[in-house]
Amino acid sequence: METRICKLCGEPFEPYTENQVFCSQFHQEKYWRRYGKTHIYEEGTGPVIREFQCKQCGKTVRVRSEKDHRAAFCSGPCSRRYFRHRYDKRKRDWP
Ligand SMILES: [Zn+2]
Ligand SMILES: [Zn+2]
Repeated sequence: METRICKLCGEPFEPYTENQVFCSQFHQEKYWRRYGKTHIYEEGTGPVIREFQCKQCGKTVRVRSEKDHRAAFCSGPCSRRYFRHRYDKRKRDWP
């Protein structure tokens, strides 16, 4: 199998299984604890169930899987960026 990039640490790794997206079980659990399992989604190839635009980057997201619970952001990093941005703004308003 070809090398992939770990979703948590960004290091390349050799996957043991078809769906593996983390370099190790340890990183998978760490990621789930931090972001929740709903941020891991499969693009899928079936019909589009719903469609929305990412609040952070404006990208159009097409949801094709029932298991895909995204509703506002295309990805975990986008939601984190969005909320961090809001937090920073609030900090500026209230020094
Ligand atoms: Zn990793
Ligand atoms: Zn986005």
